[in-house]
Amino acid sequence: MELEPTIGLEIHTELKTKTKMFCDCLNNPEEIVANKNVCPVCLAHPGTLPVINKKALEQVIIVGLALNSEVPEYSKFDRKNYFYPDLPKGYQISQYDMPLCKGGELSLFLSNDLGESKKNIKITRVHLEEDTGKLIHSTDKESTLIDFNRAGVPLMELVTEPVIHTGKEARLFAQGLQLLLRTLGVSEADMEKGQMRCEVNISLSENKKLGTKVEIKNLNSFRAVERSIDFEIDRQKKILEDGEKVIQETRGWDAGKEITYSQRLKEEAQDYRYFPEPDLPRLHIYSKTKEGGLFNLEQMESQLPKLPWQTKQNLIQTYDISSQEANILVQNDKALLFFKDTVSKLDPKYKKTGTPLADNYLTTDILGIKEKEGLDWKDIKLSSDNFARLINNLASGKISSRVGKDILLDIIHSNQDVEEIIKTRGLEKISNESQLKSIISEIIRNNQKTIEDYKKGKENALQFLVGQAMAKTRGAADPKLLEKLFKEQFS
Ligand SMILES: [Zn+2]
Repeated sequence: MELEPTIGLEIHTELKTKTKMFCDCLNNPEEIVANKNVCPVCLAHPGTLPVINKKALEQVIIVGLALNSEVPEYSKFDRKNYFYPDLPKGYQISQYDMPLCKGGELSLFLSNDLGESKKNIKITRVHLEEDTGKLIHSTDKESTLIDFNRAGVPLMELVTEPVIHTGKEARLFAQGLQLLLRTLGVSEADMEKGQMRCEVNISLSENKKLGTKVEIKNLNSFRAVERSIDFEIDRQKKILEDGEKVIQETRGWDAGKEITYSQRLKEEAQDYRYFPEPDLPRLHIYSKTKEGGLFNLEQMESQLPKLPWQTKQNLIQTYDISSQEANILVQNDKALLFFKDTVSKLDPKYKKTGTPLADNYLTTDILGIKEKEGLDWKDIKLSSDNFARLINNLASGKISSRVGKDILLDIIHSNQDVEEIIKTRGLEKISNESQLKSIISEIIRNNQKTIEDYKKGKENALQFLVGQAMAKTRGAADPKLLEKLFKEQFS
């Protein structure tokens, strides 16, 4: 049985505006005092009227322009009617048939696989609506409290076409979108904080015939997006292969057990009885032919920052680094700036060999230490000047890579001058054979048993001796040269 997964995503993102979507309450996702940022408008008192936040419209249009969406000349808001305790009005102001952006696409540019990174995921639409309040259930499950700080916060919804086939593709799409939204400055899109929330629609088609659609809701990490889809594909495959039917339903994700579970059955599409929001005017977004409209799209397009996939391409071309390394830098703007600064300060003689070294020491070692020690970027004291000096010394062969890594461990916290460390600790690479030979004779004198082992064929005995010599020279010797010299002694 040929079963093909068809997956579509719906991604909601809270926009980073100063005030809410239809009132002048602060839009502050960090607010910890419940029901502080509320007013009669976002609490839906009778007789109040919404006023559109133009900045939110602008932010969604910027996203659309970056995704190559069509921005129609006219748009409008609609009421989506449903009841839920976190929705004070009894309806949500959303967009139905005239969204701000239609179509567009986003490539899976963060994939390390070059073929996959060129794959474009088609987007159906991007529209604007308002967020709901937050329900807080007490731990004893006896009561529920409501916080309306979030009610009325501008929320962007992006819907993809059902063209995704694996959990990994869905994750790469969401990661790429997050990076784009951050680059455009429209949202922090932090999934853990609920600023970006993913829903997945998934069905398995048999011989090109679409199957029953299952929805997975409230996915709040990239891992959850990928794993829940892979789990669901397996689950539905087993059902269909057993000759049973998949039920149309909404499922949740248990991140602990890594399984999806049934939340509620969806026998028919809910009727939201959409109708145009009577309290808001139709929006004249821009004019194709003459002056007029709320925005000048040409100007907005020309002011777009460099988009992350363009930055990645530039990095690969300018610095000759791999797609994988470029992905790390493009997702970490502070590391990217540090890398560029360092390369610009390298000795011109060593630019060619030093650039990949700088990239490698930064993306592997510095970011590795940062992660391991739980450091913030500001905790890293190392300056790009000093780091460039370290790389110069490595590229010129003055110090060994072992010494380089040792020094790095210190200077990351102290920023002590690299040249000074090399000089005071005598770390210059020893490639003077006669100097090494005296060290070797001493080690041979003191390790007779190991030498007998080596002569009996124990290969790692040699590594032990090299290690002793490295320790004696505090890593300053060339291990390859030591190995050669030891072997000469025994031949
Ligand atoms: Zn308000």
